Amino acid sequence: MCATFSFQNFVGIFMSVFDHPAYDQHEHVAFYHDIKSGLKAIIAVHNTNLGPSLGGCRMWPYANSAEALTDVLRLSKGMSYKSAMANLKLGGGKSVIIGDPRKDKSSDMMLAMGDFIQSLGGKYISAEDSGIAVSDLKTMAQRSSYIAGTHAKYRYDGGPADGNPAPSTAYGVYMGLKASVAHKLKSDLKGVSVAIQGLGHVGFRLAEHLHKEGAKLYVTDIYPDNLDKAAQQFGATVVSPDEIFALDVDVFAPCALGSAINDHSIGQLKASVIAGAANNQLAEERHGQMLMEKGILYAPDYVINAGGVIDIYHQKQGSTAEALRKHLEGLGDTLTEIYQKAEQQGLPTNIEANKIAEQRFLAGV
Ligand code: NAD
Repeated sequence: MCATFSFQNFVGIFMSVFDHPAYDQHEHVAFYHDIKSGLKAIIAVHNTNLGPSLGGCRMWPYANSAEALTDVLRLSKGMSYKSAMANLKLGGGKSVIIGDPRKDKSSDMMLAMGDFIQSLGGKYISAEDSGIAVSDLKTMAQRSSYIAGTHAKYRYDGGPADGNPAPSTAYGVYMGLKASVAHKLKSDLKGVSVAIQGLGHVGFRLAEHLHKEGAKLYVTDIYPDNLDKAAQQFGATVVSPDEIFALDVDVFAPCALGSAINDHSIGQLKASVIAGAANNQLAEERHGQMLMEKGILYAPDYVINAGGVIDIYHQKQGSTAEALRKHLEGLGDTLTEIYQKAEQQGLPTNIEANKIAEQRFLAGV
């Protein structure tokens, strides 16, 4: 037995959601409980002016449904900005499943999630996020035609694809970091020092690109596996997670979790450029202003890390590896444009990026 509610039809019931601090003109928020499989999920569609909303499905052991709602409202809004800045005909949406992916996930639950996604009639298209694998998406796809990221055909460099968008994300971050260094330091990457926080799917690949261009690398992670590999393959200097912020380097590349840029870390930073893959790098928007005042150039996270959604978009459209690669390379130009406009206006780069993205998705062009 299932229950589905939407904001549009049950406004009275969910008035408190409209007052939620993370609610920001979301078009549609739907809640779903499939009692048989135990699925409890929320889909939030932030804006669809540019096209159907696309964003990952995250499964996480949220402490309560309020925490899940906060997450899905924030994440879906972020996707509107990301897709608009990447010039994709997509809106912003995201879904969350309340539960521990290691203990609570089942095929019945993924099938029920497919039913839920299908019930929105294409207003929301799901891809993967934390706790959801490509195999889970394939199960959902048995019940829904609105699932993306299950059948990657090519990599941006023409190599065989395994369905993981991280290579595209890393290539986009590399192109964005290169453009940021050119803008701020008037230099190419040869001899430029970069501190990478987090050597996971994206961070390690970013390190590889930077090493090829002659950058000097400092790396950290909470697990040793990739650190040893980076030391051997790229001659990277390994430092502890606490040491990474205060290094005397040119670039800080956050590629781990969110909120790396906060009151505490800004006080320690010596880098003059911040360019990395992590989502939600600024703990609060005001930290963008603090970075500007310190003379640090910040590459807005949702602009530089859009390679993943760009990859999914191209695979879905059935375009070519060449078109995908060119799109990723364009991220550098987008960032340069944001830096120039921000300087002309005297605005922090995160605020300038927000302005441009909002103009695009509010106007729907
Ligand atoms: P990942 O989980 O593979 O890698 C993250 C790495 O950071 C892990 O190795 C982890 O051990 C490390 N880490 C965690 N906390 C740390 C800390 N305090 N100090 C140092 N290292 C720490 O994730 P990923 O796919 O490489 O993504 C990295 C970031 O980029 C995430 O914020 C993700 O949301 C964002 N992002 C990823 C993609 C993608 O295509 N994978 C796309 C857009 C944004």
